[in-house]
Amino acid sequence: MRTPLVIGNWKMNGDMVSNEKCLSDLLERVGPTLETGGIEMGIAAPAPYLFQVAVRLKGRAACVWGSQDVSDEGSGAFTGEISAFMLKDFECGFSLVGHSERRARHAETNSVASRKIQRLIEAGLIPVLCVGESLEDRQAGRAEVVVCEQLREALVSMSDDSASPIVLAYEPVWAIGTGKQASPSDAQQMHAALRETLSQRSDALASNTRIIYGGSLTASNAAVLFEQPDIDGGLVGGASLDPVSFASIVALSQLSSVSAASTSH
Ligand code: PEP
Repeated sequence: MRTPLVIGNWKMNGDMVSNEKCLSDLLERVGPTLETGGIEMGIAAPAPYLFQVAVRLKGRAACVWGSQDVSDEGSGAFTGEISAFMLKDFECGFSLVGHSERRARHAETNSVASRKIQRLIEAGLIPVLCVGESLEDRQAGRAEVVVCEQLREALVSMSDDSASPIVLAYEPVWAIGTGKQASPSDAQQMHAALRETLSQRSDALASNTRIIYGGSLTASNAAVLFEQPDIDGGLVGGASLDPVSFASIVALSQLSSVSAASTSH
């Protein structure tokens, strides 16, 4: 069984005061769910607030925090960059890599994503690799080819063993921040295609890797997506800024994993 993971991506939002309120409201609502076990919750905070988030989440059951980006360099004269080891110093558990907003605005190619993944793995952090097709790709019928290629290229120079901590986030670009979502069957099909791509490397990598869905996830649409057998949780942007919605999404992910476990017995 893969432990479901729901990550809130705060993007470039928040400040000390609003973060504090958001975290305390969230923890109050989500604490009992997380203590029951069987699920993990993460927050991908803007870098200046990582310490604030770490202080609030440290010692809490099943909580991880991480960054929205990381440098593809180790250390040195790279002004403005943040290294994987610095993230480790702040006890981050993961970093997003290749988010579509970074691919589009910061020329983050598959090979840059690949180097970032290697840096994270060297530092002992989990890379959360974001992949997803544009609307144009989907309409042209090449969504699966594009998305599976993003995965293959990002893992190209890695052994199956070193790639094993990775989490994948399937995020159709046309669904991010738009209020549109992939249908549960389209999302399931893509997650299955990604798992099949991993199985070309190793069966263990395919069956153990968590593949989460992102793209306008809300408390109203999450349940039906989380019911899909290859969807192992969510990457949540807009709705993660509202502690009530985000806590509901976390709870829905736990519910779907409990019902999957009971039907498999
Ligand atoms: C995201 O930024 O990863 C995301 C999925 O955003 P939203 O939920 O707002 O579509």
